[in-house]
Amino acid sequence: MTASPDTHRGVPLLEATGLVRRYGMRRGLLGRPVEVRAVDGVSLTLQRGRTLGLVGESGCGKSTTGRLVLGLEKPDAGEVRFGGAPMPPPGSAAWRAQRARMQMVFQDPLGAMDRRLTVAAQVAEPLEIHATLPRGERDARVEALLRGVGLRPDQGARYPHELSGGQRQRAVLARAMATEPDLLVCDEPISALDVSIQAQVMNLLSELQARTGIAMLFVSHDLRAVRQMSHRVAVMYLGRIVEEGEPDGVLHAPAHPYAQALVSAIPHPGRGGRRIVLQGDPPNPAARPPGCAFHPRCSQAAALCAREIPALKPRLDGRLVACHVAHGDVAPGAGDVPTALSQPLPEAA
Ligand code: SF4
Repeated sequence: MTASPDTHRGVPLLEATGLVRRYGMRRGLLGRPVEVRAVDGVSLTLQRGRTLGLVGESGCGKSTTGRLVLGLEKPDAGEVRFGGAPMPPPGSAAWRAQRARMQMVFQDPLGAMDRRLTVAAQVAEPLEIHATLPRGERDARVEALLRGVGLRPDQGARYPHELSGGQRQRAVLARAMATEPDLLVCDEPISALDVSIQAQVMNLLSELQARTGIAMLFVSHDLRAVRQMSHRVAVMYLGRIVEEGEPDGVLHAPAHPYAQALVSAIPHPGRGGRRIVLQGDPPNPAARPPGCAFHPRCSQAAALCAREIPALKPRLDGRLVACHVAHGDVAPGAGDVPTALSQPLPEAA
């Protein structure tokens, strides 16, 4: 892999600080404008050769965070630094050079490819945009990229619909790796694939990381995949990170009640413990509850939780957690705060 100018020791490859992304939408019959905070003060750091897993339910802001990091969307507040430097202005030559070092892999490989072009032509595209190689060299490079993701060079002559789902995701990866990026943002990269293929693609991502030193932001709702892939994990709820730490801690003994509920839902033969079924409506970014946004669904909510947003701060074990109870600031509630759990059940018709 080409050495980049920012390979100083100690400088994180990626630093995002206080990212906020708001969308305006209209709600109700009169179309009352409401502000949706899809991402609300997210900070994260990623070192070279490491993977940060971002998990949470659909709509929690994890995919938007990935797009903000890549510069595909502009944050309303906050900053992204890449290799210690702020992102250049969008559209500038410096921005294009920076973008070549950051690539994205999407959930749907067929949707991410041009059905009218062969796989080899699509893998060659970034080389034509970002590098000026003689044709022979370019073709050799495409062949090497295809081999690097486990495809045969002759499969480069096929069109996307002539490949299986797993082969298409390999082709997307070959194209993403063409510019020798430093960062890969993988947005649900295995969720559209058969279970039997998922492990192959995860193994391929790990191999690519071991071979090239690429860093990854692995966005997924699949906790088992995140546990396998990540060196660090951040759990998101309604646009905020609520727990962050090493996978062994966060995914084996989560401290935040929301993370506890997510982890309890992973089927695990022989493991004890009851499943925590989340009550209430799924998170709605347009109707954020006051205080801790999770409090209407939280079985441990205390009165303080409905008033005060818990800060994401470190515990003694080094893990970052945003929960009044997990930090011992308040005792778990005893039904003194209205939550979905305390609402009366609707009467039978
Ligand atoms: Fe539950 Fe309160 Fe912790 Fe929020 S701050 S997760 S409501 S205990």
